[in-house]
Formats: sequence, structure tokens, C-alpha cells
Amino acid sequence: MSMYTHFKTSDYLTVSSIKSIYFRRFSSMPKIAVIGAGVVGLSTAINIQKRQPSAEVTIIADRFDKQTTSHGAGGLFRPNVEHTLGVNPDTVTRWSVEGFKFYSSLAVSPESRDTGHMIMPGYVFSNTEIQNPLYKSLVFSFRQLTPDELRKLSVNYKYGYQVTTVITDCSRYLPWLMTRFKEHGGTVENRHVKSLEEFVGEYEVVVNCTGFSSRELVGDKSVYPVRGHLIRLKAPWIKYWVYTEDSAYFVPSFDTVAIGGIRQKNNFSLDIDPKDTAGILERCYKLWPSLKGAPIQREWVDLRPHRDPLRLEKEVMKFPKGSLNVVHNYGHGASGITLSWGTSLDAATLVAEHLNQNTSRL
Ligand SMILES: Cc1cc2nc3c(=O)[nH]c(=O)nc-3n(C[C@H](O)[C@H](O)[C@H](O)COP(=O)(O)OP(=O)(O)OC[C@H]3O[C@@H](n4cnc5c(N)ncnc54)[C@H](O)[C@@H]3O)c2cc1C
Repeated sequence: MSMYTHFKTSDYLTVSSIKSIYFRRFSSMPKIAVIGAGVVGLSTAINIQKRQPSAEVTIIADRFDKQTTSHGAGGLFRPNVEHTLGVNPDTVTRWSVEGFKFYSSLAVSPESRDTGHMIMPGYVFSNTEIQNPLYKSLVFSFRQLTPDELRKLSVNYKYGYQVTTVITDCSRYLPWLMTRFKEHGGTVENRHVKSLEEFVGEYEVVVNCTGFSSRELVGDKSVYPVRGHLIRLKAPWIKYWVYTEDSAYFVPSFDTVAIGGIRQKNNFSLDIDPKDTAGILERCYKLWPSLKGAPIQREWVDLRPHRDPLRLEKEVMKFPKGSLNVVHNYGHGASGITLSWGTSLDAATLVAEHLNQNTSRL
């Protein structure tokens, strides 16, 4: 059975045994709040619904869809350990396996147009040999280009790899996730959360999926920005992606081609810097002259929410008003789209552990 078929409504409705346990133990269904409506919050909320069908799940956020960091991302599935520092490589692999299983099942499903998933071939170019990348055994195909193939592509790199992977267009995926969440009884509140203390006594578990804003919400200054900048071109003739190690890459989505990029650590600015725009255009035109002349649709600057390691753990937070069961799931850096499904499965498990502890205390 594909991951996709797990989403059938019937799955949510045929769990009377689990519900009856809760009805016996609690006067009402467990209430769970997920703070954040980016790709991490939405994926987490949906996996909690799957795992806790008796729960009332509410997403609370002050930004949705186009206003989130997730919306603008390139969405290329190319996990690597270097962008997920501090996490055991086996764990990154496990999250990546789950993500690829899910995204590829969506990409081949009749709903792919709505989910925003595309199977897409592309090239990685490098001057150092890439021997065994994490994604090699996960993606649809990976092979080294021959010198003759490299020459025909007219690129100035020693090594090239042909990789067929999956691309997630978040302008479609986020609304699709939100629709699934609401279909399965989820509710949504649009508001800014000042402190998690607001939830004491209101919710059994709160899941913090606030990405970069965890710096403020839970005072976690180990979250740091790696500023990025993408220029979206109208270039329907580009049917593949290209990635290099020299801050020049491009990734098609359904309607545009995103070209980048920059990786500016600890730069907090959300303004478009014309120097960055000029640099990206120059590097990408040099790498791939076929991009020249494509009209610019829009530009986007945002901060990759890095934390080494990303934070995925349970906590019982103590406040003057009382204690609160919290699960944290933030700090996905440059790999939030890639890893969101895998980490949200683990976050749903941590929520279940909190609830089981509550139950066993009764
Ligand atoms: C230029 C660029 C390119 C990228 N390309 C890729 C790529 O190709 N592949 C990939 O895997 N990743 C990529 N990423 C990374 C990816 O975009 C992020 O890792 C991911 O979007 C993080 O998702 P999130 O849900 O944690 O955060 P967000 O999308 O930022 O969502 C955070 C949510 O929390 C809510 N929130 C925060 N604080 C509060 C509060 N106090 N009260 C209420 N709500 C709150 C916000 O309203 C929002 O809904 C890219 C990032 C950038 C900048």
C-alpha cells in the first residue's frame, strides 16, 4: 500500500477502539495544538490526526501559505548530512526514506497536480567527486556522467551526475495539506502566540513548529538564519534542474523556474539586495546560457531556519500557571521540505508518548 492511500477518510473513521479508550479515561477528546502552518506544522498536524484519530487537533499560526518560508522554497529532494548537522546520519536517512516514499507516491498518484509533486531529472556538477551521497540509493536514479556526456553539456566541471528525483511545489502542496487537515476535522486559528503558557490547562499537548520564530517564542538562540534568495523566471522550456557547489542552481516548479542562490549565515535581512540579484543572474546565465532572456516573474528572500541539530524532542515546560506537555519540531534549515514528512512522523510519536504518560498517571 502506498503512503498516499493512508490518507483515506475511512482510516480516520474506523478507530472506534482507540476512541473508546479515550472516552473511558478522559471526559473529552484530547486537545492538541500545533503552532505553525508551514510545511512542518501542516505535516505534523496531519500525522497527529492519523495517529490520534480521537484527538481534536488545532493549528494556530500568524502566517499561512504565501507568507511562510515553506511557500517559496525550491523543493528539490536532495537530502544531505552536511545540511543537517548534529543529527545521526542514520536518523537523517530514516527521515529521508519516509519523505521520499511519501512524495514519490504523491508524484505518481492522480492527485499530483494538486499536491505539487513532480518526478524530475536533473544534473549535479562538481569539481570534486561525489562518491556516496545520502540520496543516491533513495531517488529514482543516480549515475555518473561520462566525460563525453559532460562535454556535450558544455559545462566547465570535472564531474557530473544525472539524478532523477522528486520536486515539491509548495505553492500547491501547502494548500493541499491544509485541505486534508480540515477534511479530517482539524480546526485553524489565525493568531500570534506570545508564550506557550497561553496553552496551560487548555491543551493536553502543544507542538511547536514555528521554525525560525522559535528564537523568540521559546527563546532558542541556537536557531540561526542562513539567508536565501530565489529569482523566479518564466522559462517553460526548462524541464530539468541543475545544482552546483558554486551558488548557481535552478529548479523548475509547476509554473516557474527558481534560480539561486545565496547562503548567507547570520544575515537576518529580508530585503532584496540588488547586488545579490545581479550575482545570481550572472552566475546562472554563465552556468546555463539557455536561461538568458527568460522574464523575471518575482524575487524572494527568506531565512533558512537552521539549528544544529534540528530540534525534535519532548519537553514538560513549567510556567507559573502550571506545566505543559510540549513537542518541539523546528530548525530544519535548508532541508525543511525534504525532511518535514519524516520528522513529523516522529513528532506524532512523541505526542502519543505524552498522551500515554498522561493516561498511565490516571
Ligand atoms: C531560498 C530558500 C530555498 C530553499 N530550498 C529548499 C529546498 O529546495 N528543499 C528543502 O527541503 N528546503 C528548502 N528550503 C528550506 C525550507 O524552506 C525550510 O526549512 C522550511 O520551509 C521550514 O518550514 P517550517 O514549517 O519549519 O517554517 P515556516 O514555513 O517558516 O513556518 C513557520 C510557521 O510558524 C508560524 N509561527 C511562527 N511563530 C509564531 C507565533 N509566535 N505565533 C503564531 N504562529 C507562529 C508561522 O506563522 C508559520 O506558519 C529553502 C529555504 C530558502 C530560504
